[in-house]
Amino acid sequence: IHRYQLQLWEWMAAYYMCTEGEVMAAALPSHFKLSSETILIYNEEFDDDFSALDNDEFMIAEALQMKHELRLTEVQQILDATHVYPVVNRLIGKKLCFVWESLKQTFNAKKESFVLLSNEYHDEDKLSALLNNWGRAPKQMELLLSYLHLMKTQGEVTKADLLKKASASDAQLKGLVEKDILRIEKRSVERIRYAPKDVTIDFALTPSQAEALGQIQECFATKQVCLLHGITSSGKTHVYIKLIENFIRHGQQVLYMLPEIALTSQIIRRLQKHFGGYIGIYHSKFSQNERVEIWNKVKSGEMKIVLGARSSLFLPYQDLGLIICDEEHDSSYKQQDPAPRYHGRDAAIYMASLTGSKVLLGSATPCLETYYNAKTEKYGLAQLNERFGEVKMPAIEFVDNRTIAHKPGEKVMLSPQLLDEIKASVAKGKQVILFQNRRGYSPYQLCTVCGWIAECRNCDVSLTYHKQSNKLKCHYCGNVYPPVTTCAACGSNKLVQRSFGTEKIEEVLEGELQGLKVSRMDFDSVKNKNAHDVLIQQFEQKKIDVLVGTQMVVKGLDFDNVDLVGILDADGLLHFADFRVNERAFQLMEQVSGRAGRREGQGKVLIQTMNPTHPVLLHVSRHDYTGMYNEEIEKRKQFFYPPYSRVINVHFKHKEREICFQAAHQFAKGMDFLYRKYIVGPAEPVINRVRGMFLMEMLLKLPRDAQMIAKCKEDIQKECANLHNIKQFKKVIVLPDVDAQ
Ligand code: ADP
Ligand code: ZN
Ligand code: ZN
Repeated sequence: IHRYQLQLWEWMAAYYMCTEGEVMAAALPSHFKLSSETILIYNEEFDDDFSALDNDEFMIAEALQMKHELRLTEVQQILDATHVYPVVNRLIGKKLCFVWESLKQTFNAKKESFVLLSNEYHDEDKLSALLNNWGRAPKQMELLLSYLHLMKTQGEVTKADLLKKASASDAQLKGLVEKDILRIEKRSVERIRYAPKDVTIDFALTPSQAEALGQIQECFATKQVCLLHGITSSGKTHVYIKLIENFIRHGQQVLYMLPEIALTSQIIRRLQKHFGGYIGIYHSKFSQNERVEIWNKVKSGEMKIVLGARSSLFLPYQDLGLIICDEEHDSSYKQQDPAPRYHGRDAAIYMASLTGSKVLLGSATPCLETYYNAKTEKYGLAQLNERFGEVKMPAIEFVDNRTIAHKPGEKVMLSPQLLDEIKASVAKGKQVILFQNRRGYSPYQLCTVCGWIAECRNCDVSLTYHKQSNKLKCHYCGNVYPPVTTCAACGSNKLVQRSFGTEKIEEVLEGELQGLKVSRMDFDSVKNKNAHDVLIQQFEQKKIDVLVGTQMVVKGLDFDNVDLVGILDADGLLHFADFRVNERAFQLMEQVSGRAGRREGQGKVLIQTMNPTHPVLLHVSRHDYTGMYNEEIEKRKQFFYPPYSRVINVHFKHKEREICFQAAHQFAKGMDFLYRKYIVGPAEPVINRVRGMFLMEMLLKLPRDAQMIAKCKEDIQKECANLHNIKQFKKVIVLPDVDAQ
């Protein structure tokens, strides 16, 4: 473990209000364990002031100071206890010791069987004599010939490969082994195979891309962080690739961070094409063994580029030159549960200050806070204002749903205009993407007699009907229920499916657009490891005409044949009680629109809404990020929200609603009067029960004063201890979420 890593852990625990142990659990592949061999090293820079240490800590500190390093077994002896880890964690938190050496790696090497030619037949003459005088067993001869052929082309042959290529059986191979012609050897292999290591940059930057690259490099001369604000399809990835090449040419490592790596197979393929074997991919779908393998390769410096989700920040970089944080506005960078609830982008910026690395934030729709930091010159700013190939930004048109709805308040799923446009596009040989946000409207079961809606037993949310599985599902806790046939309130059997989710849209489209190939991309349809990738490749190969999807269709995808994008329910994006609602709605719509017309001609975006004059929609129609920014930043200032303040959202959870309510109020009252005026709430969130627990939340909007924020965090922790000292509140869970999204 490098020293900077421990510093990052310490910072993260303090900043995001959790324990070092929680950070460590997130940081290390679980195959790493403290072992009796683990060595603690005394931090020579520690000021030798032991007055704040408790008894256990003090004993270890003294021993450490004297001997400079201790094995964990020695710590165990001193404490005469088996539970040494919490004490060790605390000492690291207090910066008394900073390095753990020799973490045990319980890593199982992967073994594979290779087939080799017996030494005797390395002699050409003997081999041809053998073949020329072959007796019976023609299938064995065939197998041997396949082996020789594979050997010639591949250099080495695994048993599995050979049997497959020759479509031979184990027994046939065994025959050759018994005759001492072939032999089999087990060897350790790497789980992750690397392509050959070479860099191929087979493109040139356009003048405006080159200019942006210049701006970035210039900015890195004086600043640590730079924002690349480049409109959709302006070629940000190409700028990244050139920049990465520069850094690895100087022998440094690069981390390319993405919000949801599992959804970005397209980017992976694009980067692999240029950097082949230099690139390693790291995310949570990897097995623990695979993670340890990557860990070791990053540590040795062999792996030059890591493409990963936020957790790849924790890898032991040798010499990290650059962190790219792509789609930096994406809220999936923030970890929700479990702790540490850290923001990948912000943690990256902090880490870069420890490792002396540069950070490039990239987005077509930057997070308001980021853009503010660029405007106020805390970060550098590079701009890319034209699309690659002089392609125009798509034209935005609105479908006014009010003029179509049959009844007031009725939701229009697919307007006639949109259906016509879809047909026209497909008739021209083009493809279509339809976007439907899941949060807005999913199909639920409704009693037409009394209005009863099927709800989850554990959560305060309606259940979503899934036709494919014929089940009702809770999207909060994942519980599955059989579909209901009678109303639980009035007993009637007049139940209907209401509203629309992606599955319903897919079905309706298939009905309306006979003969077109419609596919759906959402959380349910891409559960398997490769399902997402398969869908994307099918769409790339034009095997799908219309792709219907949730947020997933938004994420940085680059298709060359899409000329129409439909946003089915803009209103569902605009109506949330959240200070980021307008920013998020703009980002989503601008990003979805950005999938249209990326190669030639001008794409078109149709937005269905009841509210076509909404200011956010006007900004979207003009692709006017700065317009949106100026308007929103003014509101943030007026209502004291980030970037003008820092927010900490404190969540309370308890089985009983009343206790949860009282605890939250008790907590708020207990907070120092200093912060009282910054408290919003406590209040019950819109969805007030999840997984059987009632929820309350309290928002703190604090001035950007580091000292005050640190003091407030301390107070929250104190207040939490106070609360837990009161008998009936003992079991109330209190979770602070710093910089809540
Ligand atoms: P962004 O990430 O800004 O949305 P991309 O990097 O996906 O944009 O670029 C859009 C398309 O233009 C991609 O298909 C990309 O291959 C192509 N492109 C961009 N810049 C270049 C370049 N300099 N040379 C060749 N193709 C480019
Ligand atoms: Zn539930
Ligand atoms: Zn009913």
